[in-house]
Amino acid sequence: MRVKSVESIVSPPSPHFVGDGFRVHNFIPSARGLSRERMDPFVMLDYNSKFYFEASATPKGVGVHPHRGFETVTIAYQGKVEHHDSSGGGGIIGEGDVQWMTAARGVLHKEFHEKEWSKNGGIFQMVQLWVNLPAKDKRASPKYQSIENKKMGKWQLPDNSVFVDIIAGELHGIKGAADTFTPMHMYNVKMIKGGICDLSFPKHYNTALLVIEGSISVNSTHEALTDHFVLMANDGENFHIEATEETKILVMSGEPIREPIVSYGPFVMNTEEELQQAYEDFRNGKFGHLAD
Ligand code: MN
Repeated sequence: MRVKSVESIVSPPSPHFVGDGFRVHNFIPSARGLSRERMDPFVMLDYNSKFYFEASATPKGVGVHPHRGFETVTIAYQGKVEHHDSSGGGGIIGEGDVQWMTAARGVLHKEFHEKEWSKNGGIFQMVQLWVNLPAKDKRASPKYQSIENKKMGKWQLPDNSVFVDIIAGELHGIKGAADTFTPMHMYNVKMIKGGICDLSFPKHYNTALLVIEGSISVNSTHEALTDHFVLMANDGENFHIEATEETKILVMSGEPIREPIVSYGPFVMNTEEELQQAYEDFRNGKFGHLAD
């Protein structure tokens, strides 16, 4: 087994607002080297690094909008998010929880800070990833998986230096909580200073790390600070992460789908015709109904 080396360390791009509730750095596909094709099946990654939201009686967020052709995965680190969609899915997630929404053939949804949390305000930190679906599953039924932290697979080193929450895929035979359409692994890894985590993924899986807290050294060759993204090369399988201070990182690794990606706004399809069809279907109310 060969070493999977570091391809690049990517600094957080300038933030922008999504609605009025999410102040995000768009890594995929805006940042250098992180095209949708390069990170396939992860076709979008918005990272709301720690940001203080003032108390607000009206929850901030994004109103009713459509999605088709993929899944939205929201990972909460601080603060609470509330979600509702036109297929009847909905829920509230807080620190350490994940919501995994399969838009597939199409949903309308809205995403806001949870009402009670919003009344007090506070530090908000989360990730939203868009996981693409293969052509054969883009017309599947919408689905909502609310993945509370306690439902995730748990793995730790006996000396308590490394704790892993397995959101999807598996680690050392321990399975993650999410059902996925294509093979992938997604973890939150917490490490104390000096902790070392060895990981191994197939060479061709697109693999990356996002440093949520603290800082790390990868393969003893590259250092990455808080809010930085580590793109791993497709040149081997094994790599190791050392915590240079107490740290938390998001790990993602997925088998590329390798189909054409034609994306605009809230839709991710395979062809221009399918994209036009999505807009037409949205205009004609074919995504169902969801109240404001
Ligand atoms: Mn959305």
